[in-house]
Amino acid sequence: MRILITGAAGFLGSHLCDRLLADGHEVVGMDNFVTGSRDNIAHLMGNDKFTFYKHDVSNYIFVPGKMEAVLHFASPASPNPQSPYAYFNLPIQTMKAGALGTHNTLGVAKANHARFLLASTSEIYGDPLVHPQAETYAGNVDPVGPRAVYDEAKRFAESLTMAYHRQHNVDTRIVRIFNTYGPRMDLEDGRALPNLLKQALLGQPVTVYGDGSQTRSFCYVDDLVEGIVRLLLSNEHMPVNIGNPVEMSLLQFAETINRITGNQAGMAFVADARSARDPQRRQPDITRARTILGWEPKVNLEEGLHKTIPYFKEKLGLTGLK
Ligand code: NAD
Ligand code: UDP
Repeated sequence: MRILITGAAGFLGSHLCDRLLADGHEVVGMDNFVTGSRDNIAHLMGNDKFTFYKHDVSNYIFVPGKMEAVLHFASPASPNPQSPYAYFNLPIQTMKAGALGTHNTLGVAKANHARFLLASTSEIYGDPLVHPQAETYAGNVDPVGPRAVYDEAKRFAESLTMAYHRQHNVDTRIVRIFNTYGPRMDLEDGRALPNLLKQALLGQPVTVYGDGSQTRSFCYVDDLVEGIVRLLLSNEHMPVNIGNPVEMSLLQFAETINRITGNQAGMAFVADARSARDPQRRQPDITRARTILGWEPKVNLEEGLHKTIPYFKEKLGLTGLK
C-alpha cells in the first residue's frame, strides 16, 4: 500500500513509518514539527519508499498520487502543563489538529477510496467512573475542563470518523491508545516515563505527582505498533482499545524505574503539579483487541525499560557510562 501518516515525525508516527516500510509499504510522512522532531525520521530520508511533506494538517492537504491508506496521528499529546509541548499550552492547535486535521485527512481518504485509521486515546474516557475501560464505556469528560482541548477534539474526531464511515462509506478504523512509551519519546515533553526515566538516569529524585496512588498501564511501543497494524489490516470499524492491561500505581512505576536504573536518589512528591484533574485510574479492557485482532502485549515494563534506556542515555550524553 501507499500510506499517508500524519504526525510522522513524532514518537508513535516515526515507529509506524519504520514498521510499515519494513513490511514493504510505501510511506508518505507529514508533520509540522510542532511537537515532533526531524531527528525521528532522519534515518528515512534516503529511503526511496519514503517521502515527506512539512505541512500543518489543519490546512487543506494535497498529496500527489494515489493513496491506499491514511493514518491520522498528528496532534500534541502531552498533558503536562509544565511542558511547552503540552496540549494545555497549545490549546487551539490541539483542537484544530483533532477537528480540522481529522476532517482534512478523512477527505484525503475519501478522495482516494483509501482506508483510514484515527489515533484516538484513552483520554476520551476522561476521569473514568468504570474500571477497567471497555470500548462500550462512554466516558466522563468535562467539556470545559483543562484537558478538554485534547479529550473533546479526539471525541469529535471519533464522531467525524464514524460519520464519514456511515455517510460516505469510508473504510475507517479507530484505535484508542493507552499510555505508550519507548525510544524517541521527547525527553522534555513532560509525560511520566520521559520525566522519571530522565531524572533516574541523572541520579535525581523522580517526581511523583500527588501521593502516587493514581494508576496507569504502560505499553511498549512495539506492542502498540503491532496492534495498530493488525487493526489497519482488519475490517473492524468500531473503536478498539490498544494498551497494556497491567495496571500499576505511579508509586510502583517510580519504584520500578529507580530499581532498573539503580537510582539511589529516591522520589520527590510534588503537590498540585497538575493544574488539571488527573485521572485517578486507567486500565484498558483489551477483550476486543484479543478477540478481533488476536493481539495482546508481549513486552513487560522491565523489558520495555531496558529497550528504552539506551535511547535516553544517548540523548542525555551518558553513552558508555554505567
Ligand atoms: P508526538 O508529539 O511525539 O507526535 C505527534 C506528532 O504530530 C508530532 O510530530 C507533531 O509535530 C505532529 N503534529 C501535531 N500537530 C500537527 C499539525 N497540525 N500538523 C502536522 N503535524 C502535527 O506524540 P505521540 O505520543 O507520538 O502521539 C501521536 C498520536 O497518538 C497523537 O494523535 C496522540 O493523541 C495519540 N496518542 C498517543 C499516546 C501515547 O501514549 N503516546 C496515547 C494516546 C494517544
Ligand atoms: N506523573 C508523575 N510525575 C511526573 C509526570 C507524570 O507522577 O513527573 C503522573 C501524572 O500525574 C499521571 C501519570 O504520571 O498520573 C501519567 O502521566 P502522563 O503525563 O504520562 O499522561 P496521562 O496518563 O496523565 O495522560
